[in-house]
Amino acid sequence: MTKIIRTIASMKKFSAAQKRRGKKIGFVPTMGYLHAGHISLIKQAVKECDVVVASIFVNPTQFGPKEDLKKYPRDFKRDAKMLKKAGVDAIFYPDPKAMYPKGYKTYIYVRELGDVMCGKTRPGHFEGVATVVAKLFNIVMPDAAYFGKKDFQQQIIIKKMVADLNMDVKIVSLPTVREADGLAMSSRNTYLEPDERSNAAIINRSLLAAKKLIGSGVSDASKIKKAIAKLIATKRGIKIDYITIRDAKTFDEAAKIKGKVFIAIAAYVGRTRLIDNIEI
Ligand code: AMP
Repeated sequence: MTKIIRTIASMKKFSAAQKRRGKKIGFVPTMGYLHAGHISLIKQAVKECDVVVASIFVNPTQFGPKEDLKKYPRDFKRDAKMLKKAGVDAIFYPDPKAMYPKGYKTYIYVRELGDVMCGKTRPGHFEGVATVVAKLFNIVMPDAAYFGKKDFQQQIIIKKMVADLNMDVKIVSLPTVREADGLAMSSRNTYLEPDERSNAAIINRSLLAAKKLIGSGVSDASKIKKAIAKLIATKRGIKIDYITIRDAKTFDEAAKIKGKVFIAIAAYVGRTRLIDNIEI
């Protein structure tokens, strides 16, 4: 039986009861409109935990004033069906007014990590993300929480917040689930027109080409970034927001490929902003 929980108080009560029974709670926060990427996180949580909670909350504080909060796709009935099938025990589906009542004032800012890449283009985005995740952790009280590496910067920021604020939750990061042509699954892919959808596959293909370049011995990051941009430019209607190559540990922009790095891209396909990354 999957429970649907709408209030913060009943969510806390549910989790407290599980904890009293010594159950390990796994948690998967989402904004809904679920796809196989979300389900892969749920399945891992089901494998590793006694009780699994998924949240569906389109978090208003992580959207800029000109962003797609209103038109972000929503379909609770469909999501609930998918979550039931995947073995979720409870779906937390709160009201935005309960999460951010009138006069709400507290935000979490993870310095530096939240200011670059997506944080530069989307000021305040990661404050919204860190804040809602911290709130959800306080409400759901999970032992482990599951995040996708598709949102590479997000999972790094969450890990830093958890370490810095001494939160007792293990953060598990899982690989990106992709469409057959390599496009990273995203709820926002539904915005794409058919020609945009087929062109969007170049984002992942350019990352794979970069990996090959590095494998063949190219170590100059600017050369690799140029090669990526050139490949993306072969498709019409894609505007690059950023291409970045960073040290996977320090998060510093890399001039040369040394040790573990990740390459991340954000690009507008038509009006839809998509992100993807690869670890090398
Ligand atoms: P969202 O609903 O987009 O906020 O995403 C909720 C969680 O699902 C986040 O941890 C995302 O990183 C993760 N996620 C989104 N897309 C994918 C994907 N294609 N593969 C794996 N995880 C994903």
